[in-house]
Amino acid sequence: MNIVEQVKKSGVVGAGGAGFPTHIKLAAQAEWFLANGAECEPLLHKDREVMIHFAQEIIEGLRLAVESVKAVKTSIGVKAKNQSAIKALRQAMSKTSFTLTEFGDYYPAGDEYEVVTGITGRLIPPQGLPLDVGCVVNNVETLYNVYLASQNIPTTEKFLTIAGIVKHPVTVKVPIGMSFREVLDLAGGPTRSDFAIMESGLMMGKPADDLGKPVTKLTGGLIALPADHDVIQRYHRTNKQMRRIGHSACDQCTYCTELCPRYLLGYDIQPHLVMRSLGFTVTGPEIWNEYALLCCRCGLCTLYACPEALYPREACIDGINDLRAIGKGKWQGNKEIQVHAMKDGRRVPIKLLMQRLGVDQYESHAEYKDVQVRPNRVSIALQQHVGVPAVPVVQRGESVKKGQLIADIPDDKLGAPLHASIDGTVGEISDTAIEIKATA
Ligand code: SF4
Ligand code: SF4
Repeated sequence: MNIVEQVKKSGVVGAGGAGFPTHIKLAAQAEWFLANGAECEPLLHKDREVMIHFAQEIIEGLRLAVESVKAVKTSIGVKAKNQSAIKALRQAMSKTSFTLTEFGDYYPAGDEYEVVTGITGRLIPPQGLPLDVGCVVNNVETLYNVYLASQNIPTTEKFLTIAGIVKHPVTVKVPIGMSFREVLDLAGGPTRSDFAIMESGLMMGKPADDLGKPVTKLTGGLIALPADHDVIQRYHRTNKQMRRIGHSACDQCTYCTELCPRYLLGYDIQPHLVMRSLGFTVTGPEIWNEYALLCCRCGLCTLYACPEALYPREACIDGINDLRAIGKGKWQGNKEIQVHAMKDGRRVPIKLLMQRLGVDQYESHAEYKDVQVRPNRVSIALQQHVGVPAVPVVQRGESVKKGQLIADIPDDKLGAPLHASIDGTVGEISDTAIEIKATA
């Protein structure tokens, strides 16, 4: 079996949060292969910790991936501040021709478009893919999983950072399907009773209102914050409230556009023009303009740039969804891209971003700890990847071993199979998940 088939069979998907099935990327051919270790969500450090502790496995996964896509140039993007990770990677890649590109500590350094331009100097066409400019990009944890796949070990565990107001911020590896509540316990639990959780980041993540929610292949971390923290409050506004405030308070200062990373990279995204749509008295999909379409949802406009604390990102997302629904989601505008002269000067350092978010006091090292985790049960979501949901291949009451296939993807469909993350007995099988109760 070749590496593409092994990766497909092992259910490897983009562990940076995108969830795109990795075997599709490895079946492509490209000049460049880029490993993305430029993690940039404030307070989350799982990629740095994976690079420090599993550099050898990442480099072996990278070697297999490079071979598969027949890449002739390979580079790993890492933030210069993560010197321990850089040292571990340089040592692991000493016998290869791979290079390492150091990035500054800004947001969103880990955006795929930024990584491609930062390493190769190439600009992906509007709404395009790295492959359009001869590149394949994979997150470093994904490459660790590619290595495991080559050893016939499927993806059944997830690295994540537990941060914020917890007793002992930490990075751990947990079985997929474990509940957020149990994950929080691994960090000693929250330090106060009135807390709220952000899942997978403050910028691009979402509030997790149910602590019974299970970890998936896409979970990058859990951040506990005081329930009345401004970031939590802002995420809990309804769409209607966001639009109403935007309608009355946007003074068209253009800061959201001037600081937008995609605008600075040269794309014609202009959130302040999207915000104008909120001023119309009519509603419906036709109110939006095309300036929303190239938004990558990084959140910098909403959570950093706007002096009025408005919601330009959310307006862009609404605009994109509505325009897609009426068949106008394809970019028809300017395809010429030219990096803005002020790009470097307007980069947003993570330190400033954390101060603006009001979370700088929660920064911690969150070092990796190899803890033995034994949940009593796991709930494995059938949809934790791009594509169609996996179809259960086990029955209630059946005994399963860790690593055993429990749900598969029909041959002609896009997706990734799922495997038991613990030894146990299959419990309830619903339309959305398979429960496994641990063997006593
Ligand atoms: S930064 Fe805020 S106030 Fe200024 S144009 Fe953008 S949304 Fe409007
Ligand atoms: S979320 Fe805002 S800052 Fe980020 S790409 Fe979209 S418009 Fe630009």
